[in-house]
Amino acid sequence: MAQEGIFTEDFKEQPYWWDRAPLQQVSPPPPLPAQADVVIVGSGYTGITAALYLARSGADTVVIDAEAVGYGASRRNAGFLGRVLKRDVAWLEKHHGEDHALRVYRELNEAFETVKEVVTTEQIEAYLRICGRFIGATSPTHYELLAKELETNKRKLGIDYHMVPRGGQHSEIASDIYYGGAIIPDLGSIHPGLYHKGLVDRATSAGVKLVPHTAVTAVRQAGSAPSRRFQVETSRGVIEAANVIEATNGYTHRNLAWLARRVIPFQGYMIATEILPTALIDRLLPHRRTYLQTNMNINFIRPAPDTERILMGGLTGSRTPSLRHIAADLRTILRRILPGIGDVKLSHVWTGQCAGTFDFMPHIGGEDGHYYGIGYNFAGIPMGTYFGRKLAYKVLGRPEGSTVFETQPLRSMPLYTGNPWFVPLAMKYFDLHDWWIGRGAPGRSKAA
Ligand SMILES: Cc1cc2nc3c(=O)[nH]c(=O)nc-3n(C[C@H](O)[C@H](O)[C@H](O)COP(=O)(O)OP(=O)(O)OC[C@H]3O[C@@H](n4cnc5c(N)ncnc54)[C@H](O)[C@@H]3O)c2cc1C
Repeated sequence: MAQEGIFTEDFKEQPYWWDRAPLQQVSPPPPLPAQADVVIVGSGYTGITAALYLARSGADTVVIDAEAVGYGASRRNAGFLGRVLKRDVAWLEKHHGEDHALRVYRELNEAFETVKEVVTTEQIEAYLRICGRFIGATSPTHYELLAKELETNKRKLGIDYHMVPRGGQHSEIASDIYYGGAIIPDLGSIHPGLYHKGLVDRATSAGVKLVPHTAVTAVRQAGSAPSRRFQVETSRGVIEAANVIEATNGYTHRNLAWLARRVIPFQGYMIATEILPTALIDRLLPHRRTYLQTNMNINFIRPAPDTERILMGGLTGSRTPSLRHIAADLRTILRRILPGIGDVKLSHVWTGQCAGTFDFMPHIGGEDGHYYGIGYNFAGIPMGTYFGRKLAYKVLGRPEGSTVFETQPLRSMPLYTGNPWFVPLAMKYFDLHDWWIGRGAPGRSKAA
């Protein structure tokens, strides 16, 4: 049993973000319309952003979610706003050529800028801050590899950074656990719940119809162009549409079989501390940035944007008997990273489902009125927003819908049907890999 003394009296097993952006419980859910121009499955950043742009273009747009609107990762994530993928420029260059690698990272930057643009033009108050990111090196070798990777990014993409040697680390984070690190000054943070809520509000004002608590069980095509339609079967009846977008990411139901065979859902976990003295947070995290490390399997820390708490995530992909156990384990790691935090209590713990793909890359695709966007591998705030807009353009037949993220096939593996039993093993492998690199073995780190 996790130690009870480490939890506040009002401790909650739900996302901290829901305090300010609670899920709307609609009971009974509104009737399912008989038809629409576009049906979107999934109400996270991807689905809602697509819906917003489609409705503004005059399309009759219905968003269906199996749960409450915003139930998925979009109101559960850490709110790190970055432009990094699990595959770095060097890896992409080696496997797909320099042109492809640069196109990927230029579009990733566009995705990052899209969030800033959307927040500004839609006037969404979501605590978007350009706070900079600290990446801690978990070994001297990781430090060298990080410097090399960031130098490549600077040379090829103009991305600014500076290295922080171990001796100067306390100016960034009150920790001795890292072997130095790096700052990327122009990355940001956001309140992911308020961002999502803002998008939902704008979409609703634009005329988008939201149908929560309704699971899509199958999408069947009837006829061919120009009279092609889709029958979208749900737990509450059938809706007919000219276009369908599947935006279900880590929550993809197994009955959406084609997509489920290509997406690897895995659990992410986060905790929030009790309210802490301002002076303590200023001592622990002086610049109030976002913080993570060079490993594949990362721990991530940030101050809350709206109260004096520290939020932390990690143990991704772990199996656990209860969220309280995970909370206790994350707290132990937090205290190892920031010993000065002392005997801290926790106010929240939560989990959310991320989505990996077999090539670690996000994918957008589909044709003839049936599209998808998935596999953000921890970059879902920028990529979900960006893909949402691209998906809208695709449905509208606009050339801006094209993207480098549709050029590689979204692959499955033989026998894989959507049961990610191997995720804990994969995480162990990443841990071993990081340890091996840390011993000076040839290879590369991952500056997430
Ligand atoms: C703990 C955690 C931390 C993260 N941190 C970050 C971060 O700091 N920065 C970052 O950029 N990204 C982060 N991510 C990733 C990011 O949150 C996701 O990539 C992003 O929210 C995905 O958005 P989405 O709209 O595609 O899907 P989601 O928001 O997950 O929404 C999918 C929706 O589809 C619905 N659905 C699924 N199947 C069906 C069906 N058959 N019928 C109807 N509805 C269905 C689900 O109910 C769900 O509401 C994190 C994720 C987690 C879990």
